[in-house]
Amino acid sequence: LEVQSVVGSSNDEIRTLSHAKALPAGYAVFAEAQTAGRGRRGKPWFSPFGSNLYISIYWPLTDGINSAMGLSLVVGVAVADALTALGIKDVGVKWPNDVYVEHKKLAGILVELDSRSDGQSTSVIGIGVNLRMPEQGAKAIDQRWTDIAAHISADWSRNAIAGSIYRNVLDALERFSQYGLEPTRNKWVSYDIYLNQPVTLMMGQRTVSGICRGIDENGAILLDQQGSIIRYFGGEVSLRAA
Ligand code: ATP
Repeated sequence: LEVQSVVGSSNDEIRTLSHAKALPAGYAVFAEAQTAGRGRRGKPWFSPFGSNLYISIYWPLTDGINSAMGLSLVVGVAVADALTALGIKDVGVKWPNDVYVEHKKLAGILVELDSRSDGQSTSVIGIGVNLRMPEQGAKAIDQRWTDIAAHISADWSRNAIAGSIYRNVLDALERFSQYGLEPTRNKWVSYDIYLNQPVTLMMGQRTVSGICRGIDENGAILLDQQGSIIRYFGGEVSLRAA
């Protein structure tokens, strides 16, 4: 892995590196700050210099892009596990890419697909974790958020936390390559903050409502709509409380 100071986006750093040379699976860039950190559909990811974590990981897709949907879910669970192992309570996930503590957003995951010149499908997995958010975070983020520092005692090492998140995510990615999403599905459901709750899915102009019933074997969200279970997936789908 390499540690960089200020980057535009750590995902872009990995993409550029992977086009310039052969990277081993799991190669990572840890950045101290991003000037153009992003979430899904170009939304901004507030990434000030200080002591948050901005990690991007290079990961070839053994099963082609079909396997990509599960990626952000297994990475979310791996981050949630790492937070739980720190002693943090009430850790949860929101489909498909966010990690929450006490219903406030603490980490976000952005999986972007790419392909190498030899045709192999690859991905870049970006993980933004609020570790200790500087003051201005309160104004810059337009939804409820939190950071690790608010939930654990003062005596912690940033490197150890970064290392344990990275280790957990690498283990999860290796498991995912071998066994797919199945071994992680029950865990996702146990962390899912909207399980059995009324939710609305927004898909461009269209919205649908129902009760969230977890995920299917590929990572699609399952919605109970008047007794019928319908699956939804795709980069355009956003989940909100109904
Ligand atoms: P969805 O993925 O369902 O559309 P979302 O609106 O949370 O949900 P994301 O792409 O997951 O979108 O994340 C980007 C959003 O996260 C931003 O629009 C902002 O509201 C919020 N955000 C930005 N930076 C941070 C941060 N450091 N910590 C927590 N939340 C942040």
